[in-house]
Amino acid sequence: MDIDTEELRASLTPREENEAIKSYQNTVSVACPACGEPFDDLVVCKQNPTSLDLSKRLDLCVGVDDDKAYIFTHS
Ligand SMILES: [Zn+2]
Repeated sequence: MDIDTEELRASLTPREENEAIKSYQNTVSVACPACGEPFDDLVVCKQNPTSLDLSKRLDLCVGVDDDKAYIFTHS
C-alpha cells in the first residue's frame, strides 16, 4: 500500500501525542487509503512494538510507511 503521509498530515487535525503514538482526527472526511471510506482517526505508531489501548471496539485499517504503522479507525 502506498500512503501519502505528507498529504494526510497536512489535512488532518493533530489530537494526541506521546512517546508511543501520535493521533490525528479526520475532520475533513479524507478517504482511507486502504478501503476508500472516510476514516475517523489516524494513529501513527512511533515505537516498535507498540500497544494500543483502545477504549472502543473499532474497525481498523493498517498501513506501513517509512517503518511506521499507520492505523485508520472506522467506528
Ligand atoms: Zn479503511
